[in-house]
Amino acid sequence: MAAGTALRLLRRLELAIRRPDLDLIVPQGHAHLPGRLLDPFRASRILAFLDDEGLLRRRRLHRARPATPAQLRRVHDDAYLESLERPGALVRAVGMRLPDRSEQRVLETQRSMVGGTVLAARRAAAGTALAVNLGGGLHHARRDRGAGFCLYNDVAVAIAHLRARLRFAGPILIVDLDLHDGDGTRALFAEDATVHTLSIHGAPWDEAGAVESTSIALGAGVDGERLARALESVLPPLLERFRPRLAFYLAGADVARDDALGDWRLDDEAILARDLYVCRELRRRHVPVVYLLAGGYGDDAWRYPARFLARQLCGRCIEPPTTAEQVLDRFREVAHDLAPSRLSGRDEEAPLFTAEDLAALGVHTPSTRFLDFYTPSGIELALERLGYLERLRQLGYDRPTVAFDLANPSGHTLRIFGNPDRRELLVELRCAIDRSTLPGFRLLRVEWLLLQNPRGHFTADRPALPGQSHPGLGMLRETIAALVLVCDRLKLDGIVVVASRYHPATAAQGTLRCLDPDDESLLNSLRRALEGEPRVRAARLAERSGLADAVTGERIGFRPMPMILPITPALVARFESAEYQKRCRAGERVLRVVGPETPSAAGAR
Ligand SMILES: [Zn+2]
Repeated sequence: MAAGTALRLLRRLELAIRRPDLDLIVPQGHAHLPGRLLDPFRASRILAFLDDEGLLRRRRLHRARPATPAQLRRVHDDAYLESLERPGALVRAVGMRLPDRSEQRVLETQRSMVGGTVLAARRAAAGTALAVNLGGGLHHARRDRGAGFCLYNDVAVAIAHLRARLRFAGPILIVDLDLHDGDGTRALFAEDATVHTLSIHGAPWDEAGAVESTSIALGAGVDGERLARALESVLPPLLERFRPRLAFYLAGADVARDDALGDWRLDDEAILARDLYVCRELRRRHVPVVYLLAGGYGDDAWRYPARFLARQLCGRCIEPPTTAEQVLDRFREVAHDLAPSRLSGRDEEAPLFTAEDLAALGVHTPSTRFLDFYTPSGIELALERLGYLERLRQLGYDRPTVAFDLANPSGHTLRIFGNPDRRELLVELRCAIDRSTLPGFRLLRVEWLLLQNPRGHFTADRPALPGQSHPGLGMLRETIAALVLVCDRLKLDGIVVVASRYHPATAAQGTLRCLDPDDESLLNSLRRALEGEPRVRAARLAERSGLADAVTGERIGFRPMPMILPITPALVARFESAEYQKRCRAGERVLRVVGPETPSAAGAR
């Protein structure tokens, strides 16, 4: 959570005393790759966290300019660079055909990352101990082609810049600890004895060596201890022999055990220890370090470099918030500045009688406002301020349009379309105010929530789940945070939703609690039994009673269940009560997979 004002002041004082020699460089732009798991907001989440903790020093913060064509041409073929401007040119490197605008955005974002690495390298060459680019590490790109999301090789471009413009002649070491092989960089310096590429990775991408290189493939399932042993056996002797004058460190977080793509098992402590070790070994020998984020997939990947940077800046460990907490914090700050009258179109804070009150009296008035409060322009204003609509634009939907449908008796419906022609539906939310599910509490009942990207494509790492006709929008956290703001605004105790499918239910668990503790224990038991199963198979097993109680043999499956996001302290306390916890534990049982019930068998029951 964000530090309080006093704490921030204290941190600033600490910074002033410690004066860590650290420059922070921020690349511009954030390109979404549909269906891909690279969080386009990694840099901004890290910055927001450091700022919240009072660890951002404006003087040492720099915006990256995009790399110039001349800089890129020092490394890449003219023909290749020109080919990147043609539509469809990115298919090879990113593995899919993107809309032209998205292609341009990807190119601009990567050019800015290269510019960031060039700037970081210049700062380090000028003597900064640690120059951090919040991006970069595009290590698969080669002279004449891109691969693995990498279009330009930022490290090679930066080194060429140092050699050509700054006459920096000393030996340069690249420590590439991303999960993936630094094959592109190694190939680019295959003949250059002044640059050593050390890559420790899972699987090799290319067996070809170089005059100065060390490649170690550790295979799958590597943990922190295993990596540390490899690193400690190779890095110090290499430093003694090669004596670099500058180092690039690719601190890929795709080695994390919760990484969305990777298969290594490093925990947060192991990754922090890895980063601290590399920097300590280099700094002990007075080698300036250019630190690059490199890989890291999933919404929480930003927390690894964030933890390292906080530690470098203030010398202590500060645990970054979860992404969901950070989004909600940011949303609440924005919401605080929005006057209720701008959302509701009313001058007064609350009308004498709400439609809800009148309905209770038997007077039914057709509502003109969403949840009897928000006007369409009020919702649009709020979503704009929260950056929600901007994210939709970044997905290629130029003019997101909000529409209401208030006629359905089961709840008010809010839809967001990609454009005013209303052909592409992105968000559909139906909800109502609920006084009956939990007596004594007023809840926001979400009847239906659809978040989909009609222009997205399913991919091998994100296949279609049961019931999905388009890939998700990737904005569940932001949507939930926006709903929490609705509850804040309308003084509701929490959100209730009926989870009707296994995956959304497990994904929400932790943030949402099952209303019934028996459901909570069922979900825990299912999750444990299905750990390691591929997503699609796990859903099928759970939803078609493909498990059995290990003791009684009774067939067990997922059932639709009401889940609650408690917001007010009174409701939070209910789910933290010893009584609720005890009932959750008591209901857990050991399940084993027996295979899904076939439709005919299910029908024969
Ligand atoms: Zn990687």
